Amino acid sequence: MNEVVDESRRRLLKNVTLGMVLIPIAGNLTAARAADAPLVAADDPTAKALKYVADASKAADAKPGSKCANCSLYQGAAGSAQGGCLLFPGKSVKSAGWCSSWTAKTS
Ligand code: SF4
Repeated sequence: MNEVVDESRRRLLKNVTLGMVLIPIAGNLTAARAADAPLVAADDPTAKALKYVADASKAADAKPGSKCANCSLYQGAAGSAQGGCLLFPGKSVKSAGWCSSWTAKTS
């Protein structure tokens, strides 16, 4: 009976350890994939609705200094030219871009 429990416990620990290793890798792959995703098109309905622009300096409503790179919804790596955005799944936005959903990154 104890051998069955030990084997079961061993398998559980192995799976938890494997998960702890694979989850960060999967996260990095997702970010990399998002950076390779096509840029949001100017005529994208969501982009239009959110007034997305690839250059924040051209957004009349943007707070000074606000851009995708310092938005909490931006998924690109620090210093990247473009990356994913939670509002545009499967697409990427310019790190210098901006939209009306901009939310300051807290960290
Ligand atoms: S939500 Fe943030 S990261 Fe996404 S497009 Fe708007 S400003 Fe850029």
